[in-house]
Amino acid sequence: MSHIGHFINGVLVAGTGRTQPVYNPATGAAVHDVALASADETRAGISAAEAAFPAWRNTPPGKRQQIMFKFKQLLEERANDICALITDEHGKVLPDAMGELLRGIEVVDYACGITEVLKGEYSKNVGPAIDSWSEFHPLGVVAGITPFNFPAMVPMWMFPMAIACGNTFVLKPSERDPSAPMLIAQIFKEAGLPDGVFNVVNGDKESVDTLLEDKRVQAVSFVGSTPIAESIYQRASANGKRVQALGGAKNHAVVMPDADIEQVANALMGAAYGSCGERCMAISVAVCVGDQVADQTVAALAERLKTMKVGPGTVDGQEMGPVVTRASLDRILSLVGSGVTQGASLVVDGRNLEVNAGGVAGTENGFFLGGCLFDNVTTEMDIYQQEIFGPVLCVVRVKNLHEAMELIDDHEYGNGTCLFTRDGEAARYFSDNIKVGMVGINVPLPVPVAYHSFGGWKRSLFGDLSAYGPDSVRFYTRRKTVTQRWLTNGIVDRTDFSFPSQ
Ligand code: NAD
Repeated sequence: MSHIGHFINGVLVAGTGRTQPVYNPATGAAVHDVALASADETRAGISAAEAAFPAWRNTPPGKRQQIMFKFKQLLEERANDICALITDEHGKVLPDAMGELLRGIEVVDYACGITEVLKGEYSKNVGPAIDSWSEFHPLGVVAGITPFNFPAMVPMWMFPMAIACGNTFVLKPSERDPSAPMLIAQIFKEAGLPDGVFNVVNGDKESVDTLLEDKRVQAVSFVGSTPIAESIYQRASANGKRVQALGGAKNHAVVMPDADIEQVANALMGAAYGSCGERCMAISVAVCVGDQVADQTVAALAERLKTMKVGPGTVDGQEMGPVVTRASLDRILSLVGSGVTQGASLVVDGRNLEVNAGGVAGTENGFFLGGCLFDNVTTEMDIYQQEIFGPVLCVVRVKNLHEAMELIDDHEYGNGTCLFTRDGEAARYFSDNIKVGMVGINVPLPVPVAYHSFGGWKRSLFGDLSAYGPDSVRFYTRRKTVTQRWLTNGIVDRTDFSFPSQ
């Protein structure tokens, strides 16, 4: 069992205090222990970032851009190593880990264009011999606190743009799968990033509390569950920090009577069960318009679930791995039980899974659950109201599109949604009016590309600015507007008590 410490000021440090086991979810075995930083150790990360800030903010954007290009190249070269770490600790299948990493690298691509996005705005002659421009200044030390479900991609939603904008960064990754961000930090140093610009402090509530309290931290980006997101938003704001806190989700896919059911079923399989449903954009509710479409959708999904391959993510051809921890599995199992008790029809019961071990020993102790499919789910059931974050899809039957939209709008979360239809008018009405931040039309996982921004509505996002893309430039910089006059021949300078106007 190896020890995972912290990466502070360009070096690996062991950490001195509490630790926690990190599991391989496919076998249930503890494979590492991870340091849980004390307040002092967390402050060491902040101090390193603070010391590195003056030189980094003055490093020309073109030079920062060159480091980003190199970083991208090294990430691509080391992609298999990073994905192996993701799969070992998270459990997702290797191709899915690669998908996550590539989406993270796309944000690095965007950060490679930092010279363009930081250009600012300039207006000549706003008054006699007066020019005015706006500049985007980095904030200083910023912190990122990230969830377990995308150990590479979600940190990369944050730090590449924050750092490209001239800030220095302290990342507090999930304590459940910390190895990928640790390797990525070392790769960034190899790319030429000066020491202290990017620090990784592993830990739990104690280190998060320290990041929220320390006055040197100017801004906090958080991604995780809604109760923690809300409390982080409130505490960090109360401490005068800029904060964006992305929370949980319950994403509905509406299936219209004119939809192509084969396409719908294929799309829903990946969107509901990919990554074991542990995605904040996973589809966890299929809202079927009319009983006929519901019967067909349920039958098509049940058929596909019979042959879905579930086993260790390292084995070729696997479609779904285990969930991340025993505690997660127990929570999901208890919700599945509640669905049965509360009267939903469990059409496919993933609790009877036969794991496709593929020669890996020890899978009998892994955190596996097969895909579960519930029909006749109603809105008062726990499986409808709560974010299950597991391989469970709920089918809700409605009579028309308006009823489907009302249901979605009434849910506390508003991260993603999608509509399957052949009707352009219905699609336009849906995307114009639905109260959700990211909408797909015949696209089940409408995760925006890196040059747009990612964020939900309602209790899926606390704060005004979304993650990555153009919003990240606004979030990680503060605007300064300079108005400058140089007296030139012929302009008379005199005292004037009226408010300056054109
Ligand atoms: P989580 O809220 O348990 O943990 C997220 C982070 O917060 C971790 O770094 C953790 O160490 C820290 N944390 C946990 N409890 C804390 C506490 N009491 N005080 C301070 N810090 C604390 O989330 P998770 O289980 O790691 O991730 C799954 C959740 O993240 C799901 O709800 C999912 O929807 C959400 N998520 C949302 C998005 C999005 O973009 N909206 C993206 C990915 C994941």
